[in-house]
Amino acid sequence: MSKPSPEIQLDVRDLEVHYDGIRALHGVSFSVPKGEIVTLIGANGAGKTSILRAISGLTPCTGAIAFEGQDLRRVPAHRIVGLGIAHVPEGRGIFGNLTVQENLQLATWQRTDKGEINADYDRVFGLFPRLRERREQPGGTLSGGEQQMLAVGRALMSRGRLLLLDEPSMGLAPRLVREIFRIIVDINQTGVTVLLVEQNANMALHIAARAYVLETGAITLAGTGQELLGDPRVKEAYLGA
Ligand code: ATP
Repeated sequence: MSKPSPEIQLDVRDLEVHYDGIRALHGVSFSVPKGEIVTLIGANGAGKTSILRAISGLTPCTGAIAFEGQDLRRVPAHRIVGLGIAHVPEGRGIFGNLTVQENLQLATWQRTDKGEINADYDRVFGLFPRLRERREQPGGTLSGGEQQMLAVGRALMSRGRLLLLDEPSMGLAPRLVREIFRIIVDINQTGVTVLLVEQNANMALHIAARAYVLETGAITLAGTGQELLGDPRVKEAYLGA
């Protein structure tokens, strides 16, 4: 008997993005099964950030984007977080003058389940003990790694069921890169689906169930993380082999 197909949480079809008439994405299609880690790898400028921004409604696009069956292209950007999509942008986007606690609190403004917010602070501080130690400190005084943790913590405070992560390892020392990938796996194991955009193909493919290679705005390879780790084209172009 064949295995039942997993439930698709996010389905992207024929996505196109143009900037000033220049096509940055050429009809990209992929899907993200509920509860999995899916990664998009590709070089600088391949279009990875554009895909995440289109999903969050931050970049105009054509094509179809369905989240849990709902057409996201009909939903204004400020409502997309409320549907359960949390975006951790490249560059982290934390508020330097606000404390760690205030940065986390900001992510909860749309939530209606106020009674559960305290439990979520405990969950975030459990994942990131350093944020607990620094909760009264302004975000701008944190190290790069701590700021990345705060950006991920903020996404968790919005109770996303789908986490969009844009280059979470960028600019981090190797030890912190390993730590942030371990935390992504921990978060996924609590039931959160992850769509991870990375230039660190090696780490991303190791934790991803499914992976896509993006080259100049189009998907050129797809497979399980393990399959792509063993693919000679991936090895040569992205794994430094
Ligand atoms: P990076 O890792 O550098 O962020 P990426 O794979 O995420 O790369 P995108 O940022 O999505 O790629 O960029 C895809 C293409 O679109 C690139 O050629 C980039 O120069 C171009 N581009 C992105 N944003 C804009 C913009 N706001 N205006 C014009 N061109 C843009």
